[in-house]
Amino acid sequence: MEKAPNNPKCPNCWRAKDLCLCSEIQHLPTQTKVLILQHPQEARNPLTSARLASMTLKNAVHRVGLNWRSLSAAWGKETEAKEWAVLFLGTLKNSEKLAKVPFQVVTQKGLSFDPSLITGVVILDGNWKQSKTLWWRNPWLLKLKRIVLNPEIPSNWGTLRKQPRPECLSTIESLSLTLEHLGEKSQVQEALNSIFQKHVESMTRS
Ligand SMILES: [Zn+2]
Repeated sequence: MEKAPNNPKCPNCWRAKDLCLCSEIQHLPTQTKVLILQHPQEARNPLTSARLASMTLKNAVHRVGLNWRSLSAAWGKETEAKEWAVLFLGTLKNSEKLAKVPFQVVTQKGLSFDPSLITGVVILDGNWKQSKTLWWRNPWLLKLKRIVLNPEIPSNWGTLRKQPRPECLSTIESLSLTLEHLGEKSQVQEALNSIFQKHVESMTRS
């Protein structure tokens, strides 16, 4: 007989039951489609913020896995890849030529692209190595436009989680910044930032 886990999880927010944040989560519509691809190891990390993000956004799909055969397969229905951008992790080849602005969308070749033409965003969730794995195991990602963030504000993680680079934000913070720049209502950013604050506070207490 399988032993019941000592710390049962909430089936909705995936957090330990005593840390459940379901009653605090708002559910908001967005124009932008959001696809969160999460590395299986990150899904087991109690510090993960991806689930809270996908619960907040009605137009979000959250997948846990390593590879999907296409964008449409990952999203769950037919969608136009040319209108999607992936939050880019690596160093762009011509990054020195790009202006250091907080947010920009570029083509695969690093040329500036009009953000108003983007209708969907893919975000890879995991630590640096896990995200790299997701990037290389899903070659269709290479065909998407790329979102490059240069946040002016440091992450709110504080000392809780070591980020590989100082400019690295949590998944939920990156999404909040991205959606703000894609023209979503400020309530969306407020809801994401607020649930992230509660998440960090509860993890710091526990
Ligand atoms: Zn919950």
